[in-house]
Amino acid sequence: MIGCGRRIPGIDVSAFNELILLLTCECGHVGRRSVQFRYGRVWWYSYSIGSTIERGSGAVGSELDQIAAVQGWLTGCERCSNEGDLAVLVRSGAVIGVTAWENIDELPKESVFP
Ligand SMILES: [Zn+2]
Repeated sequence: MIGCGRRIPGIDVSAFNELILLLTCECGHVGRRSVQFRYGRVWWYSYSIGSTIERGSGAVGSELDQIAAVQGWLTGCERCSNEGDLAVLVRSGAVIGVTAWENIDELPKESVFP
């Protein structure tokens, strides 16, 4: 499967991928934010909404996952520094968005990735 994630340079040894998206913060600030997560091949890939997840040896999850909720870390808002946990949603191998964890209680355990 050919993905469209772009590799980004990293110096941290603990690799993660990131999702770049435009978010409205609780403080009202609209800005470009980064969500760090580990799903698919974990190697500094930078995704946007709609990107296909890169796979390969050691990839987290399966290409057969219909839907996955992946633990994500939202990096700080440039106005209020708000940051925190949210779920990155992957459907049929593509990133479809993010949501708060309380919105996805109904997902089966095998679809949730720490
Ligand atoms: Zn904010």
